[in-house]
Amino acid sequence: MRKIFVAGNWKMNMTKAEAAALVDGLAKTLGSSLPVEVAVCPPFVYLDTVADHIKGTAMKLGAQNCYFETKGAFTGEVSPQMLLDVGCTFVIIGHSERRHTIGKGECDGMINKKVHAALKAGLKPILAIGEKLEQRDGNQMEAILTQQLKDGLAGLTAEQMATITVAYEPVWAIGTGRNATPQQAQDAHVHIRKVLAEMFGQAVAANTTIQYGGSMNAANAAELMAQKDVDGGLIGGASLKIDDFTKIVQAAVKAKGL
Ligand code: PEP
Repeated sequence: MRKIFVAGNWKMNMTKAEAAALVDGLAKTLGSSLPVEVAVCPPFVYLDTVADHIKGTAMKLGAQNCYFETKGAFTGEVSPQMLLDVGCTFVIIGHSERRHTIGKGECDGMINKKVHAALKAGLKPILAIGEKLEQRDGNQMEAILTQQLKDGLAGLTAEQMATITVAYEPVWAIGTGRNATPQQAQDAHVHIRKVLAEMFGQAVAANTTIQYGGSMNAANAAELMAQKDVDGGLIGGASLKIDDFTKIVQAAVKAKGL
């Protein structure tokens, strides 16, 4: 059975004290063991603090990005080895804000290099993919997802793919309050699984965790998680509130009958 996985992407939010308070609160509401995987992905500067506070809890640590080199003259970048060193298990790669909002944007070639580098270091990548609104309106959703998967996961073995989570995050749904409908999410996830089957075989595709991300919250999590191919969520805004993130995790547990 594939893993159900809920991850909180805190983006560029929180102070150090707020970060500690958030995970301390979550540790109480979530308890020390869970039937689903849960990760929090704070900004780089709070990874160390959060790592200390989640020791002995059910939460794991993730980063929001990494660079593809191990060390050297890359001002402002952070290597996968550094993330491992401070206790990260996961790293989000290819988030839409990194593809489309920040600087000149990351291309699939760079994202693919990051996936390989993260795997080599021993991190588990969460590869985020998703179409823009005009691409969905132009009936290009499937083509865009296919291309982002083929380019982002190029050169990986089936064995490596077994440690990767794919996050389907339609760009038009991220931070907009407009989530994909459960059927839209399910349809996209089915397509993603079909492409993964073509690339890595049926068994790998059936075992790959595919999260939905895009304005998932305490109110809509249950119906999204109830979709057969939705294996959890990548949560932005709602992961900053103890009550909301807890309800989303609980919705995942309930929807999957765990
Ligand atoms: C995200 O940042 O990955 C995300 C899904 O954000 P939000 O939940 O705020 O839409």
